[in-house]
Order: sequence, then structure tokens, then C-alpha cells
Amino acid sequence: MSAPLDGLVAIVTGGASGLGAAIAHRLREDGAAVAIFDVNPDAATGVDLAVAVDVTDDASVVAGVERVVEQFGRLDILVNNAGIGAQGDVTANSDDEWHRVFDINVVGIARVSRAAIPYLRTSPSAAICNTSSIAATAGLPQRALYSATKGAVLSLTQAMAADHLREGIRVNAVNPGTADTPWVGRLLSAAPDPAAERAALEARQPHGRLVRAEEVADAVAYLVSPRAGSTAGVALAVDGGMQGLRLRPA
Ligand code: NAD
Repeated sequence: MSAPLDGLVAIVTGGASGLGAAIAHRLREDGAAVAIFDVNPDAATGVDLAVAVDVTDDASVVAGVERVVEQFGRLDILVNNAGIGAQGDVTANSDDEWHRVFDINVVGIARVSRAAIPYLRTSPSAAICNTSSIAATAGLPQRALYSATKGAVLSLTQAMAADHLREGIRVNAVNPGTADTPWVGRLLSAAPDPAAERAALEARQPHGRLVRAEEVADAVAYLVSPRAGSTAGVALAVDGGMQGLRLRPA
């Protein structure tokens, strides 16, 4: 029996760690050839190609996309997952920080998509999935800048979905809740009592635990596969029910 992504070629940005690594592995299990783009490509494991790409650097993005097409002969799937966090209320961050986080989390998606879409247009099974966050709509405290970037990711996803659907490119997003990745590990290890902080964080989730990276990867694998051929412009929540049940962060 053939795998759902057999013969397809995918790029996953931020694919050297956390959610991006889990997504890359899952797409490969489903049959795709997978290239990851990351500022830290040496950390990548279990992929077909790891390219040093900074999503804020247009030249490296264009060169990365061209390298993938040169090596694999096509491009079918783009997962725009690279992102960084920012803490604090709206008074906490400087202009430079606002520009920097938007440049990675939002403009980075536009940059990689701009380079990839000419190739995706020639694919018979093209899809893009952008990583947003529960922060886009949950009103999380002390995450003003980060939340604004992830809200922009949702708007951008819908605009891209409308513009490119008739070209055969489906665009969707995934909306993870707090997931067990190195990023969250770094935040927890900065706390005075990391184990207690982790337990408290788990207790605040509707289903009493952190989201597993593999659960986000499963959602992305579905959205970019031909099985989701009639789905465009949605943000699939993978958050233990917080968005679907209209819960507030405890
Ligand atoms: P992570 O820090 O474990 O991994 C992020 C990866 O992105 C790293 O490999 C990093 O090197 C790469 N990266 C950072 N800046 C880059 C750049 N300029 N160009 C290319 N690569 C770059 O983080 P994660 O938890 O896996 O988060 C991945 C995505 O998921 C982010 O967009 C984040 O906002 C989103 N997200 C995470 C969570 C969570 O709880 N972990 C929840 C919701 C959404």
C-alpha cells in the first residue's frame, strides 16, 4: 500500500528542533522526501536534506528553495514553522524586538512562501501549512508581541488560502497549545523550581498535560496530504480542547 505522501517533496522551516523536527519526521514516515531549513541545520536528524537558511534573509531563503528543487526535482509541500517567542506586556519590548520577532514569525512565512510558490504551482498536490499558536486568540497574559505575530499568521493563512486555492495550492494553519518542546523546556528551566513549574503548567492545560509534538505533527501531516483535499484556510487547534471548548487559560 502506498504512503499518503509518496513521491512528494517537502520543506519544513525550523525543522531542526521541537515541533518542526516532529513534523519533518512524520512527513518522511508518510513517504515524502523532506528538507529542513534552519539557522541550526547541524542539529537536524532523520531528514533527507538540512539547509542553513535564516528565514529573515531573503538570499538564503531563495538559495535554499533552489537547492531543494535542484536536488529533488520538484516541491509539493511547505511547512512554515520557524518561530521565536517574546515575553511581556505591550510596554516590554523595544521597536527592534517588535521588528525582529515579526520578521521571523510573519515576514519569514511570506519570504519562504514567495520563493516556494512558483514551484508549488507546478505540483499536482501542493499544500502549505503555517504554524500559528493558541496565543493568536487566547489572550495569554505577558505575551503581547508573540500573540500579535501569531494572530498575523492566522490572517496571512486565510489571505494565502484565498489567493492560491485556484492555483491548486491549499493553505492551512495549525494552532498548537503549550507543547513539550525544547523551547518550553528552556522556559521551565529558567524557573526557580522547574519540576513544580512543569506540574503547574500541565495542570493548567484542559486535558492535564502538555501537547505532544507528535500530535501537532499528525495534524500537519493530515492538512498537507491529499486526504485534506477540500480543506483550505482553516487553523486546526491541537491544544487539549482549549479553543474548541472556548476555555480561558487558567
Ligand atoms: P524550538 O525552539 O524547539 O524550535 C524552533 C526552531 O526554529 C529551531 O530549530 C530554531 O533554530 C529555528 N529557527 C529560529 N529562528 C529561525 C530563523 N530565523 N530561520 C530559520 N530557523 C529558525 O520551538 P518549537 O516549540 O518547536 O516551536 C516551533 C513553532 O511552533 C514556532 O513557530 C512556535 O511559535 C510554534 N508554537 C510552539 C508552541 C510550544 O508550546 N512549543 C506552541 C504554539 C506554537
